[in-house]
Amino acid sequence: MAQKKQTVQKEQKGGKVGAVGITSVISAILFFIAYLMGWVDVSVEGVSGPETEGSGQSTVQKIGELDDYAEDELRIHIIDVGQGDSIFIQAPSRNILIDAGEEGYGPTVMGYLDRLGVDSVDVIIATHPHSDHIGDMDYVIKNLRRVGVVYTGEMPESAIPTTRCYENFLNAIIQKDADFKFATIGTSLKLGENSSLKFVGPVEPFEEYNNNSLVCRVTFGSQTFLFGGDSSKEAEELLLKKGTDISCDYMHVAHHGSSSSTTQEYLDAVDPKYATISCGEDNSYGHPNSSVVERLEKKNVEYYRTDISGNIVVVSDGESINIFTEK
Ligand SMILES: [Zn+2]
Repeated sequence: MAQKKQTVQKEQKGGKVGAVGITSVISAILFFIAYLMGWVDVSVEGVSGPETEGSGQSTVQKIGELDDYAEDELRIHIIDVGQGDSIFIQAPSRNILIDAGEEGYGPTVMGYLDRLGVDSVDVIIATHPHSDHIGDMDYVIKNLRRVGVVYTGEMPESAIPTTRCYENFLNAIIQKDADFKFATIGTSLKLGENSSLKFVGPVEPFEEYNNNSLVCRVTFGSQTFLFGGDSSKEAEELLLKKGTDISCDYMHVAHHGSSSSTTQEYLDAVDPKYATISCGEDNSYGHPNSSVVERLEKKNVEYYRTDISGNIVVVSDGESINIFTEK
């Protein structure tokens, strides 16, 4: 089952402890000699073998095994920023950063990008103005050498945030002289040959920030990928009602696996093979919610969580998907 570590059951010794006969002693000595001579293999199956995660369909590889990014692939880095979201996408002709975690996680995101040798981001997407998504976006924007364009969702005037983190975010964009745009549903950004990112939601602006999260669908070859910020069931319902194509091979589970998102109807429409969940270890929200985990498991979705696996990299050659984890 997903994310359940293998437990090696200790074999209970049967039989009576006392009255060890001479035969047992001789057998033990013979076995010991055989072991020393290398005739007996004492390794226990399941202890030294590779550990499988997800729903047991594949062997998980470690991030350390990844070669440098090659432009014939798509890489989605789910950066472990505790209880928050930060996703970096490497595509053939553009790179994209979706959210940058809670205040204080800017150095984590920048450190991750540094290790990839990235100091220039073509597209930044701020899904919605909550601090666990844009809390340190200003830090990241200021510390990057170059930022192309920053997208966020349009919202009703009455809902425009006056929070310090939103102001810092806007000021950083101005200081960096980056373009600032409200994403329009249907807008498609080319990411290379046979690859694009399309804004598919929210279908209409919501006053409530989570539901106003930008929803993006990335296509790379025959594979599709869905990112929904913290959009909740009201936004999901509108997408379903509109008949938007949200079917995907991989989805980043919305709202850290909260019970207010990823309804059964929505999950059935997306029908992913793989999923990731960004959530903090022992977070106070109880994310991911057990009902969402159950829905994923029932559908045999191979899913990974940052609180268990640390950083996660989803790699595609346009025909298939492979998952790499830090832990
Ligand atoms: Zn969030």
